[in-house]
Amino acid sequence: MSALTLAEAVERRRLLEVRSSTVDLDLTQGDEVFGSVTVIRFACSSPGAGSFVDVKPKTLLRAVLNGRELDPGALADGRLPLHGLAAENELLVEAVMAYSRTGEGMHRFVDPADGEAYVYTQAFLDDGPRFFASFDQPDLKAAYEVSVTAPEDWTVVANGLVTRQEGGRWEFAPTPPISNYLVAVVAGPLFTVRSEHDGIPLGLHCRRSLAPYLEVDAEEMLDTTRRSFDHYHRVFDQRYPFDSYDQCFVPEFNAGAMENPGCVTFRDEFVFRSAVTDTEREERAIVIAHEMAHMWFGDLVTMRWWDDLWLNESFAEYLAYTVVSESTRFSGAWTGFAAARKSWGYDADQRPSTHPVAPENVDDTAEALQNFDGISYSKGAAALRQLVAWLGEEAFFKGVNSYFQQHAFGNAALADLLQALAASSGRDVHAWAERWLRTTGVDTLRVEPAQLGEDSGGRGGTRIAHTSADGELRPLLITAATYERVADGHLVLRARRSLDLPAEPEHELDSVGAGDPDLLLLNDTDLGFVKIRLDDRSWRTVTESLGGIPQELARAVLWGAARDMVRDGELDAQGYLELVAAHLPGESSAHLVQSVLGFARTTLAEQYLTPDRRSAGLGLLAGVGRDLLRRTEGGPEDASGLRLLAVRSLIAASSTPAELAVLESWREEGGVPGGPLLDPELSWQLLLRLCVLGAAGEAEIAAELVRDTSATGQEGAARCRAALPDPEAKEAAWTALFDSDLSNYLIAATAQGFWQPEQDELLGDRPQRYFEAVVDTAQRRGPAVGRLLTRYGFPAYHATEETVLAAEACLARTDLTAALRRGLVDQVDDLRRAVRAREAAAK
Ligand SMILES: [Zn+2]
Repeated sequence: MSALTLAEAVERRRLLEVRSSTVDLDLTQGDEVFGSVTVIRFACSSPGAGSFVDVKPKTLLRAVLNGRELDPGALADGRLPLHGLAAENELLVEAVMAYSRTGEGMHRFVDPADGEAYVYTQAFLDDGPRFFASFDQPDLKAAYEVSVTAPEDWTVVANGLVTRQEGGRWEFAPTPPISNYLVAVVAGPLFTVRSEHDGIPLGLHCRRSLAPYLEVDAEEMLDTTRRSFDHYHRVFDQRYPFDSYDQCFVPEFNAGAMENPGCVTFRDEFVFRSAVTDTEREERAIVIAHEMAHMWFGDLVTMRWWDDLWLNESFAEYLAYTVVSESTRFSGAWTGFAAARKSWGYDADQRPSTHPVAPENVDDTAEALQNFDGISYSKGAAALRQLVAWLGEEAFFKGVNSYFQQHAFGNAALADLLQALAASSGRDVHAWAERWLRTTGVDTLRVEPAQLGEDSGGRGGTRIAHTSADGELRPLLITAATYERVADGHLVLRARRSLDLPAEPEHELDSVGAGDPDLLLLNDTDLGFVKIRLDDRSWRTVTESLGGIPQELARAVLWGAARDMVRDGELDAQGYLELVAAHLPGESSAHLVQSVLGFARTTLAEQYLTPDRRSAGLGLLAGVGRDLLRRTEGGPEDASGLRLLAVRSLIAASSTPAELAVLESWREEGGVPGGPLLDPELSWQLLLRLCVLGAAGEAEIAAELVRDTSATGQEGAARCRAALPDPEAKEAAWTALFDSDLSNYLIAATAQGFWQPEQDELLGDRPQRYFEAVVDTAQRRGPAVGRLLTRYGFPAYHATEETVLAAEACLARTDLTAALRRGLVDQVDDLRRAVRAREAAAK
């Protein structure tokens, strides 16, 4: 399928104005296909001119333009040419469409728990034409009137409210003008919880087998929804612009969620079947608030072209963290941003594939899809946080409201927003945007001792060196704090001040507080998107007393700095692990325990440490897990889930016979002494570890599948089978990955199980063979599978020069899909860092 180019979109927008679109779907045509009839009414500003409509059917049955039959055989590459347009036109397109198994277009899923079938659509970014014909670009908005024929016992949800339902026939109210990537339908024998808030009908929907779990959590999710509506209604002049708000939890969903107006889709892992930590509940609240922010940013006002994807994502991200931290019980949400979400942005911004937050040259939709990344979300949100701090909230929201007012139900670009913000604040927002939104790269602030003789007051004359990889600097508004050591390794905050740092290579720091502090910490409140480095004395204080800093956010910033230092080769993996051993067992923040242990195991122990040191690294992490387990034993109720984190971490790091014996005993007992019980998620995780190490096999997997007949159970089994240290199991998993039509989720699970650092020898030359296999499969199965096969299927543990060379040879090919190329470029960059770390450790 050819990607729509910007030039084509501009020309089509110049010619056409869409009046309305009716979409009629027939979901009663069996397991493989469904019927789709679209009627588009549109104007053409140059009568006589030609254009094309996007449609990607299995079979195009009929197309009629202004009463004239078109030749279905003219359909090529997902485009049907339209010649001789009139001033006002009516186009009818009748097609047979195919259900997908990859989460793109109309996905069909059969629940193994009860055999019930469910379907849902994902039109973003350019998969709308896989279920209805349209002019598939964000700035040709239309009022959509959707109707669906479905099996009689199904429920159907779409963007608008149901206006008529008889038997299996469902008709929905026309939407206000929306972009076609936002049209959505969810259908199946759904379980539904209904409510209402402030005049807005609310619905939660999931598949029937998840009903008991949705029932338990419905009130929590509705509460977040109501609080978020209240918050948005407080800061925005425009009320929620659609007629209802349905949140649908759907199976095998590729993203976290999708902001279809009035019909938001979420991955249904957010309906928790097993115990979760408070950080996971917080993450769900953030996703709920994020999608709600899109109702304004993205749905009411939509980017004109995909180069302004950030207008959607950065705002939704920034607002979600703001709303959740200010209006729900998760007041520490920004710590989660610092501890986990920001590293996604930092990593992305230091890769060869980085791009400006607001790129100027996104030539086509295939390229646009690759920008759906840590830059558009995490860095963009961090940049907005800087902007709000600089302009002040009042001026910021005043500008945003005038932007909504001017472009409601239409499209806008970066320039429109900048103009509105400049007018509301009177500040030079354009210059700020040039620096922050049009450049790439992360700045580093390094505290350096004052030059000898220059200053006598201790750090009174400290310098900050301000650098970046390419020399382009950004202005920064941050805070800096000083700490003093008191008894028992504890530190107390002595002083904090704001620093308004211009884009210059050096800053004089007169003083942050009086005296000579034990720790001087830049960006301690994490306001800036910037890497920090400490002076020697401060770093010594950190290694001795990191856990003794009372401010959770400051500890998050320091753990982040340590992570950077390892990735940049300024601290070896062992040094980081020592920090973990010293300061994590006493850590009270679930955010920090989760992100630090995750990085220490998956990046350091499994990639950066050479194989001969890996077991010592895992042993250290298992020890930390045991310490945390002891600490949370029989103590006050562990609401944040630290104990669950400890158990998960301990399972994943277990490798010695003694550690395996403990896991076996938990399995026999059905739980960890003192809790938690082994619920489905923990059971599968534990079994996976036993499978990897050859301590369990097919018999145990089959027995677990009898206990858990759910879709997650099927994924758990696929993961375990792929992980077995057995040549036949590996061969079967390889075939499943590269030569099957498995669903996106089963591909992901198989890939997650396949590569195991413990199985180097067994895997033979597969790391090299991966690169041939993945090219064909990505081409055959499309972007979603291409991304999964690079994210989870990449031989990341084989951090050798040989793997790097094989990857580079693959990247030199010209037949890679855009999704595969981007995935590989990012993985190879991480791989090079791992190879460097191993080489440095070997010296
Ligand atoms: Zn979003």
